[in-house]
Amino acid sequence: MSGLDLFGYPGHTVPVRHVIALDVGGTGMKAALVGAGGELLYQARRATGRERGPDAVVESILGFAADLRAHGERHFGRSAAAAGVAVPGIVDAERGVAAYSANLGWRDVPLRDLLGRRLDGAPVALGHDVRTGGLAEGRIGAGKGADRFLFVPLGTGIAGAIGIGGGVEAGAHGFAGEIGHIVVRPGGTPCPCGQRGCLERYASASAVSQAWAAACDDPEADAADCARAVAAGDPNAVRVWREAVDALADGLVTALTLLDPRTLIIGGGLAEAGETLFTPLRDAVRRRVTFQKLPSIVPAALGDTAGCLGAGLLAWDLLVTTDRSEVSA
Ligand SMILES: [Zn+2]
Repeated sequence: MSGLDLFGYPGHTVPVRHVIALDVGGTGMKAALVGAGGELLYQARRATGRERGPDAVVESILGFAADLRAHGERHFGRSAAAAGVAVPGIVDAERGVAAYSANLGWRDVPLRDLLGRRLDGAPVALGHDVRTGGLAEGRIGAGKGADRFLFVPLGTGIAGAIGIGGGVEAGAHGFAGEIGHIVVRPGGTPCPCGQRGCLERYASASAVSQAWAAACDDPEADAADCARAVAAGDPNAVRVWREAVDALADGLVTALTLLDPRTLIIGGGLAEAGETLFTPLRDAVRRRVTFQKLPSIVPAALGDTAGCLGAGLLAWDLLVTTDRSEVSA
C-alpha cells in the first residue's frame, strides 16, 4: 500500500514511521509528513503571519509542528520520529538557532530547542532555506545522485547551495554559497549588501523585471514578459536578456572554477523561462571556460516543494545518525 492510500483509512492498524517537514517562508509555511522512502503522506500550508511580529511567527511554527504531530498520531498510528525545519535568513544549524531574518524580523531564536520541547523531545534539525532546498534538488531532484553540485535559484535575489558528498556546505559562519554577491560588474549597480556590481543586480528575476520594465517603458512588465518577448524575437528584449545571461555566466564560471561541480542546477522564477534561458546560458558558459570541465546545466525539478522535501531529508538524516549511534552504543 502506498502512503497516499492511507488517506482514506484513518483507522488502519499498522503504524507508519514518518517525520515532520516544515519550510518557513516570508509569507507562507509549507509542511508535510514524510515517510521513510521520501513519500509525502500528508501536506499542509499555513500563513507565516509576519505582520504579527517575530514572537507570533515563532508561536505559529511551534503550533503548526504540534498539529502535524497530532495528525500523525491520529492518522498514521504513531508520533513523528523527528522534525526538520527550513528557515530563511542566517541560520546556525550546529546550535539550532535561527540567527537573523530581515524578512521575519527575528534574532537568535533557539528554534531547535523550542521545537524539541513542543514535540516532547523528538529530535529536530534546523536548516537554511536555500541550502535545504538545494539538498533536496541534489539528492532527489534535478541533481539526483550528483556527488558535487551547485544549486542556484534566480528569484528576488540570487543564492546558492554547494552540494558535496550528499550534504550541503554551510561555511564557517553559515554564509557559503552566496553567489548573488559575487561582483560581476566592478563599480556597477549598487547592491543592498553594500557592494556594487553584484550578480543579483543583473540576473535575478527582479533585476530582469526591472531592466525590462525600463526598456519597454511599462512599470508592470516583468521577467516572464521579457522571456516571452525574447522567444518572439523582440530585439529590445533580446538585448536585456543577453545582458542578464552574460552576467549570470560570468558569475557561474567564477563558481565552477572554484568548485568544479558535476551538475549546475538553476531554479527560481527566471528558470521558468526554460530553453529561452538554458540554451543561451549553456552557450555563454561554454564560451567562457578554458581548462575547466563543463558541468551539466539543468533546470531545478522540485519547484517550491524543494524546501519542504529537504526539511524531510534533514529529519531522516538525524534518525540515520541516531539509529547508527544506538547500534554502536
Ligand atoms: Zn551584493
